[in-house]
Amino acid sequence: MEANILVVNCGSSSLKLAVFDRLHNKLVSALAERLNTDDAFVNIAHADEPISLPAGASHETALRALIDALRDRGILAQDPAAIGHRVVHGGETFRGAALLDDDAIAAIGECAGLAPLHNPVNLAGIAATRTLYPNVPQVAVFDTAFHQTLPPRAFLYALPEAYYRDWAVRRYGFHGTSHYFMSREAARLLGLTPATTSIISAHLGNGCSISAIRDGISVDTSMGLTPLEGLVMGTRSGDVDPGLFDYLAGKGVSAAELHEVLNKQSGLLGLSGQSNDMRSLCELAEHGHKPSELAIDVFCFRLAKYIGAMMASLTALDALVFTGGIGENSSQVRQQTLSHLRLLGFELDPELNQSNGLYSDGRIDSADSRFPVLVIPTNEELVIAREALRLAEKSQPV
Ligand code: ADP
Repeated sequence: MEANILVVNCGSSSLKLAVFDRLHNKLVSALAERLNTDDAFVNIAHADEPISLPAGASHETALRALIDALRDRGILAQDPAAIGHRVVHGGETFRGAALLDDDAIAAIGECAGLAPLHNPVNLAGIAATRTLYPNVPQVAVFDTAFHQTLPPRAFLYALPEAYYRDWAVRRYGFHGTSHYFMSREAARLLGLTPATTSIISAHLGNGCSISAIRDGISVDTSMGLTPLEGLVMGTRSGDVDPGLFDYLAGKGVSAAELHEVLNKQSGLLGLSGQSNDMRSLCELAEHGHKPSELAIDVFCFRLAKYIGAMMASLTALDALVFTGGIGENSSQVRQQTLSHLRLLGFELDPELNQSNGLYSDGRIDSADSRFPVLVIPTNEELVIAREALRLAEKSQPV
């Protein structure tokens, strides 16, 4: 039996695991949440028996518990062939996935200043799997890497250039693995060659971002130095006037407070006063809750403006693609967004849109639409598994 591939995604208080076989079939997924709190718990999808975890369990404790449980179930009976880690920030150092040797790990540590909440936990996950599996090749796949092809006109802020030179202040973009997946999957579904396919990809989950991908390469994206810029998100504001900081400082709001508000109390949650969850807001709006209706309206209008903005980076458009929990499931959000863009010629087929493109190879546009519109369920774990195996095999030629 050939060894499987383990995919690890460490968030600030959560950990997701997935195991793929060599044919890229997902065998199992598992989740640990509320880590480092009294309510820490783990769960393996479709498992019969619960797995116990001590209160306050760390990422490493949860990882060990999950791996032991998977070993018992025969899924990781032998060491994996490769381990792929999602790493949030690769700065300008990483333009693609990287085999995790000591130098690469040190370089990820150097990028931590740009993602202080994320890279350290990603490194903790890497350290834990290196201890558990010292002889298995480990690979990092970065959220930022796919966007390293942005031209300076798209990645530079109009700030004193020393900020970029001395402090690496620039737009990096995130969700790169998902945007990459959408571009390849769109090309496949449309029968095109990835290297000559141009799309606008909208990843709409709890975090939201949009990218212009020209001939298979990312040329613009809505997130910036941090994942706060751009679209309205579940709890993040997206774009605001930078003058806000000064104005609110005058009202006694500190930088730390504003950071918290813009990241955790804004977006759909801030506008609706009810929820960061789009599905809940759609239900509330249906029952006449005006603030929820307004939150959806602001979300869709911002998204429509950004779809228009992405056009500036393209000379052709093969498809507009939606993904993420909202992009894949909300016919209402897609319809409401594109209702602002009639001038550009996007037209949806109401029935195909309603069925989320499930029976039409992802297509939801109508016959008179100027551009194809697709719904593509994203699969970042699959990309990480593929990249991990590819680099592992390169590092250990048979
Ligand atoms: P994450 O970014 O955490 O992976 P997801 O991609 O799962 O999140 O997206 C979560 C979002 O998708 C939530 O706002 C949720 O309400 C929304 N969502 C899921 N299903 C639907 C639906 N049927 N209609 C509207 N929104 C939905």
